[in-house]
Amino acid sequence: MMYQSIHFQSKGRATTNASNPEVIRKMKEIVGEENVWVDPQKVEPYGADAVKEKFPPEAVVFPESTEQVSRILKLANEYRFPVTARGGGVGYTGGAVPIEGGIVLGTDRMNKIIEINVDDLYVICQPGITTYNLQKEVEKYGLMFPPDPASYKESYIGGNIAENAGGMRTPKYGVTKHYVLGLEVVTATGEIIRTGGKTVKNVVGFDLTGLFCGSEGMLGIITEATLKLVPMPEATATVRANFRTMEEACKVLTKFTPLGILPMAMEVIDKYCIEAVEGSFAFGLSKEANAILLVAVDGSKEEVEKQARIIEEIIRKNGGFDVMRSRTKEEEDKLWDVRRAISPSLTKYGELKINEDVVVPRSKVPELVAGVEAIARKYNTFVANFGHAGDGNIHVNFVCSRNPEEIRRARACVKETFELAIKLGGTISGEHGIGYVKAPYLEMAVDKPTLEIMKAIKKVFDPNGILNPGKMFA
Ligand SMILES: Cc1cc2nc3c(=O)[nH]c(=O)nc-3n(C[C@H](O)[C@H](O)[C@H](O)COP(=O)(O)OP(=O)(O)OC[C@H]3O[C@@H](n4cnc5c(N)ncnc54)[C@H](O)[C@@H]3O)c2cc1C
Repeated sequence: MMYQSIHFQSKGRATTNASNPEVIRKMKEIVGEENVWVDPQKVEPYGADAVKEKFPPEAVVFPESTEQVSRILKLANEYRFPVTARGGGVGYTGGAVPIEGGIVLGTDRMNKIIEINVDDLYVICQPGITTYNLQKEVEKYGLMFPPDPASYKESYIGGNIAENAGGMRTPKYGVTKHYVLGLEVVTATGEIIRTGGKTVKNVVGFDLTGLFCGSEGMLGIITEATLKLVPMPEATATVRANFRTMEEACKVLTKFTPLGILPMAMEVIDKYCIEAVEGSFAFGLSKEANAILLVAVDGSKEEVEKQARIIEEIIRKNGGFDVMRSRTKEEEDKLWDVRRAISPSLTKYGELKINEDVVVPRSKVPELVAGVEAIARKYNTFVANFGHAGDGNIHVNFVCSRNPEEIRRARACVKETFELAIKLGGTISGEHGIGYVKAPYLEMAVDKPTLEIMKAIKKVFDPNGILNPGKMFA
């Protein structure tokens, strides 16, 4: 089974001036012969991300400095060929995929940490470092970079910023943009600009740093980032409980904050996900469980102990059973294994998985989940729900075969799910972005005047439409 776009018709492989031998020669002069790949077999993997549809680039180019990125972009403007930036290539909306041909600009060689500043709580790094490697490096200094997408071992900081990635810790710590203090960016025309700085406070001019967070490689190439760090908490603990219904589990989400507890993570898992993980991994989950809630807290040892006890009590009072609490890091990891096992386990339900990531205010999660289940029933389509309920971001997985009629029904489910999320005060994507996969739906979520401003901004930064054409506004 694979995750695939069911909304986009491939136009086939595109050819542009990037294939011009003179352009290839000039790119080799800039980054070195061995850092320009044109061999079809070598470039093929750079034509896909987690969506798994292939649009092979004409060349893959690996610069190692800001100056090289700038020269490549100037060349692209001179010869008018598309440039698509790529980080770890694990995006879920085809953002790093060159659907209109041209080159993929791989950031793999730009993977250095430039400075870790313990006194001023920031790290400066290049875009090609993985989130995991960055986290491990700052942890050596007792510091934490909180944004933690589940893909953190593969995703790069540049990709996280360009997608404004979230993760498990979002309910307490927010998303990537909350940790980006400053950026160095090469604009589409090859200008090198600096936004923000090293300070948490900075109100000088427009917030261009914020603009680049979530810009999906369409406004400029991020070549350096200054990121905010926080102290590592002394302790963490997780409480996991079963519920008889998803509604019961989701209703508990809002019960902790009135008592002064802001959990670091709150995730829900529905009965189809439970059946799938139990079938694949035999965790010994109760047959009575139709939903699972995981709640994690962090802080000092005393705080964590107190908060975890209160969380257990609230969960029990609100229908939770088989309540378990971790006492050690190993026990905590074991409790989370069930959540980590979901994605691979869902393969049992069908050939195609359409993983949407709608988001609503967290108090509306029970309505969202009930509504999505009703939509799936209406179109006789299988759906499994799980995810970051603590920040209202649910992974809605419609699963179907390749039968055109089943795909048509799955498509109808997706559209109605988007309508429902918007009606509940949310939107069509909480963390995966738009790319080409969700481009057909952008107008559902963004009104016309706002969309026009977005298009005008794109024109200012990229007058010749060099960066990532065919995405977002397509
Ligand atoms: C199993 C799995 C779990 C996931 N879990 C999460 C999750 O919990 N939370 C979440 O938010 N996402 C999640 N994702 C989605 C994905 O991992 C994130 O979107 C991630 O931020 C992508 O990073 P990347 O380096 O792979 O970016 P890529 O896929 O390489 O690129 C993504 C976009 O960023 C642009 N880009 C990349 N580098 C740069 C740069 N230097 N400058 C400008 N633009 C650039 C690309 O052009 C593209 O538009 C998950 C994906 C998978 C496959």
